[in-house]
Amino acid sequence: MSTSPLYKTYARSELSFERGEGVWLVTVDGRRFLDCASGVAVNSLGHSHPHLVEALKAQAEKLWHVSNIYTIPEQEKLGRRLIEATFADRVFFTNSGAEALEAAIKTARRYFHDKGEGERYRLITFEGAFHGRTLATIAAGGQEKYLEGFGPKMPGFDQVPFGDLDAVKAAIGPETAGILVEPVQGEGGIRPLPTETLRALREICDRNGLLLVLDEVQSGVGRTGRFFAHEWAGITPDIMAIAKGIGGGFPFGACLATEEAAAGMVPGTHGSTYGGNPLAMAVGNAVLDVVLSEGFLESVQRKGLLLKQRLAAVVDQHPRVFEEIRGTGLMLGLRCRVPSAEVLAEMRANGLLSVAAGENVLRIMPPLIISEEEIGEAVARVEKAAAAVEAKLDKGAAE
Ligand SMILES: *Cc1c(COP(=O)(O)O)cnc(C)c1O
Repeated sequence: MSTSPLYKTYARSELSFERGEGVWLVTVDGRRFLDCASGVAVNSLGHSHPHLVEALKAQAEKLWHVSNIYTIPEQEKLGRRLIEATFADRVFFTNSGAEALEAAIKTARRYFHDKGEGERYRLITFEGAFHGRTLATIAAGGQEKYLEGFGPKMPGFDQVPFGDLDAVKAAIGPETAGILVEPVQGEGGIRPLPTETLRALREICDRNGLLLVLDEVQSGVGRTGRFFAHEWAGITPDIMAIAKGIGGGFPFGACLATEEAAAGMVPGTHGSTYGGNPLAMAVGNAVLDVVLSEGFLESVQRKGLLLKQRLAAVVDQHPRVFEEIRGTGLMLGLRCRVPSAEVLAEMRANGLLSVAAGENVLRIMPPLIISEEEIGEAVARVEKAAAAVEAKLDKGAAE
C-alpha cells in the first residue's frame, strides 16, 4: 500500500467492495460478505435500500444545496419528526457525529453562560468513552492514544471510571456543567451502562442542576430496538448527539436539546455550511419512514434476541475462543479470549464482516433489516470462524 496517495491513518484491509445489496457486500470479483459491521452502525437499512435510493435520486434531481440562511423545508420536516419522536424541542443538523458532539458541548456551555454562570463549563465523562476525533471530542473521550501529539488537551472534561457513581459525585464541583455519556459504549467494546446507573445519573443531574448530555451516535436510531437506547431506562437527557444510523450511509448528524437547554443558542452562536442540506434531509426523512413505521422497532428487538441467543450458544460451544456475548438489540459484542484480530480474520475468511472494539470485543451490528434467515447464516459463519480458530489452537498445542 506504499503507493497509496492517502494518509496512513488507517491500517486498511485489501478488501474492496463494488456494491451492496441489503445485508450483503460484494467485491469486484463477485465474493459476497454478510455485513455485520454496517459501516460501524451506519448502514441502518443495509445497502441500496430501495426507499433510500429513490429518496436520494428524487432530491438530486431537484436541489442539492442551499445555505442555512434560507428555510429548508425538508430540514424543518425532519426536525419536527425528531422532536415528535423524542424528548427534544430543538434540533441542529451537522455533517458527522463529532460535529454533533461539538454542538452538544457548546450548547451545554452556552446554557450556563446564558444564566450568568459561565464558570460552569466542565463535563464529567467516562473511561472507555469515544466521542469523535476533533480536538474537543478527543479531550472528551480522554483516550491517551488519540490525544498524544496533538498539543495541549482542551480543558473542560473530567473523566471517571466507567459507571462509577461515587466517582461522579466526587467529581462535581463549582465548574461542573453536566455529564456526557454513551448509554452503550460502542468503540469501548459494546459496554451498556446499566439502566439503574443511567437513572442515577439523571437523578444526580437533577439534584445538582446539571445537564445530562447523551452520545447516541452509535446506539441511536433503532440500533438497540428502541428509537434511542436511553428509552430502555425510562429517562430523558437534556441534550443528545446523534449521527451514523440516521443517515443510513449519507453523512450527517444532529444535536437535539430541550427548549431550556438550547436557550442560549441564538443567532450567531453556531452554524454549519452543509449541516442539514437538502440531500441529507431527504435521506434522513426516508430513514425515519422505515425506522418509525409500525412494528419496525419491535422487529429489531425480536431479531436482536434471536441473534443474541444463538450467539450465546456459539459462545458456550467455543469457550476457548469466546468469553461472552453482550449488548442489546442489534448492537451486540462478542468478547474474545484469543486476540480478536485472529477471530476477525477467520470471520472474513468465512464471508462475514465484523469490526473490532475495546476490551477485545468484536461488534456484531448487522443492518436493522436483516432477516431471520440471514441471522441463521451469520451465526453459522461465526460458528465456522470459531471452529477454525480452535483448530489453529489445537495445531499450535500439538506442535
Ligand atoms: C462514531 C462515533 C462518534 C463520532 O462520529 P463521526 O461521524 O465519526 O465524527 C461519536 N460518538 C460515538 C459514540 C460514535 O460511535
